[in-house]
Amino acid sequence: MNITWNSVVTFHYTLRDEEGDTLDSSIGKDPFAFIQGSHQIVPGLEQQMEGHKAGDKFTAVVKPDMGYGEFDKSLLQRVPLDRFGGNTVEQGMQFQAGEHGIFTVREVVDGHALLDGNHPLAGVTLNFEVEITDVREATAEELSHGHVHGPGGHHH
Ligand code: ZN
Repeated sequence: MNITWNSVVTFHYTLRDEEGDTLDSSIGKDPFAFIQGSHQIVPGLEQQMEGHKAGDKFTAVVKPDMGYGEFDKSLLQRVPLDRFGGNTVEQGMQFQAGEHGIFTVREVVDGHALLDGNHPLAGVTLNFEVEITDVREATAEELSHGHVHGPGGHHH
């Protein structure tokens, strides 16, 4: 069957940035499973899944506006180190800050940390190499839970 709304899709992928560096890959791991139309993958990839079937291999190029969003400079802020309650703050650290989500420490200079609230892949054009391994209809139980059961999905 071809991928359509509420299909359970199982696939392998390798994600590269514009320079060809590998950011993530399922190769050597379990393939990823999701329900088409449930926004479990970025919109640009979900859109390009439509109509494919098991065995298909394709490359999906996803611009930031259909991926993890454009880079937003207003999400950068400099925070004095004495605001971190005595905790060590180093470049590359990530932490959760209340309702604002995940922040990454971009640099530590002059007693301040530069915090970045953008998704790590904001502003990046995503190049997915996709291999569809299975397509089937979702069960009523999967649709009511909003996720896939079995291989590549939830086990409960
Ligand atoms: Zn479930």
